[in-house]
Amino acid sequence: MKERLEQLKQEALNKVENAESVQNLKDVRVEYLGKKGPITEVLRGMGKLSKEERPVIGQLANDVRESIAEAIETKQSRLEDAAMEKQLEEESIDVTLPGRPVQIGGPHLLTSIVEEIEDLFIGMGFEIKEGPEVETDYYNFEALNLPKGHPARDMQDSFYITEELLMRTHTSPVQARTMGARNGGEPVKMICPGKVYRRDTDDATHSHQFTQIEGLLVDKNVRMSDLKGVLNAFAKQMFGAEREIRLRPSFFPFTEPSVEMDISCKVCGGEGCSVCKGTGWIEILGGGMVHPNVLEMAGYDPKEYSGFAFGMGPERIAMLKYGVDDIRHFYTNDIRFLEQYHKA
Ligand SMILES: [Zn+2]
Repeated sequence: MKERLEQLKQEALNKVENAESVQNLKDVRVEYLGKKGPITEVLRGMGKLSKEERPVIGQLANDVRESIAEAIETKQSRLEDAAMEKQLEEESIDVTLPGRPVQIGGPHLLTSIVEEIEDLFIGMGFEIKEGPEVETDYYNFEALNLPKGHPARDMQDSFYITEELLMRTHTSPVQARTMGARNGGEPVKMICPGKVYRRDTDDATHSHQFTQIEGLLVDKNVRMSDLKGVLNAFAKQMFGAEREIRLRPSFFPFTEPSVEMDISCKVCGGEGCSVCKGTGWIEILGGGMVHPNVLEMAGYDPKEYSGFAFGMGPERIAMLKYGVDDIRHFYTNDIRFLEQYHKA
């Protein structure tokens, strides 16, 4: 019986030693230490033994069980460690490798310029107004002193949807709408940025779609000098404190008198160069005093109220400020062009 136990022990320990997985070990445990296993069987036959032999064999049987259980446990933790090691090796990360850069976008140059201009005028107490891009003939032309058949309409050929509905050719209808909504009794101090449309052939300086920002101030006792003061502040903040402005007489149907504003050329400082075409000045925007007819159509009494208006193209402002040489760059969405201005 003693030899049988020794033999079982040896068998079991060999199997433990050769076990290749935790499952193998479980099988060994069931086979040798289970209730139907050979050791239990040996113990069942103890009744046949003498009184002296019984405790000796019992002790031996227990020792054998313990040795096998211990061997299984040791082997199991070795197998688990090995598995963990293998996993760590397979999943290892080289923390010294360069990371994948995160693609971060930025505002379009045109958006940045429009926001910069907006901020500047908000700082002077103007509010931002927006209006529809599909506009009625009335608001796009008639309310702005451009009745049907007016020759100045030819300069603003647009995309008509019906006889009376078109893609707006300027943001001026927003001015007419804003004034109209005040019922002729309240001052207006606003700028209106937005997209406008004209039937132009696209080239380096023309686009069938472009952006405008117009401004309007209507109140009692508004004078030409107020317009000049606001435009001067705008020009100096946008292009630098050393820039001078000049106003030249011009014509727009909705303002009287009308002016074009130039700023002194940054490149030559007024001497004359290729950028300013030898004049020392660069044209920036147009403006003037709101025509009495426009005030009247919007419900204001021109004898009591006066106002000024101006309009500019953010594309032109951006082109001058950042040296962009073709207006089409703004619309072709070439990421190489746009990326240059993400921090602008
Ligand atoms: Zn110049």
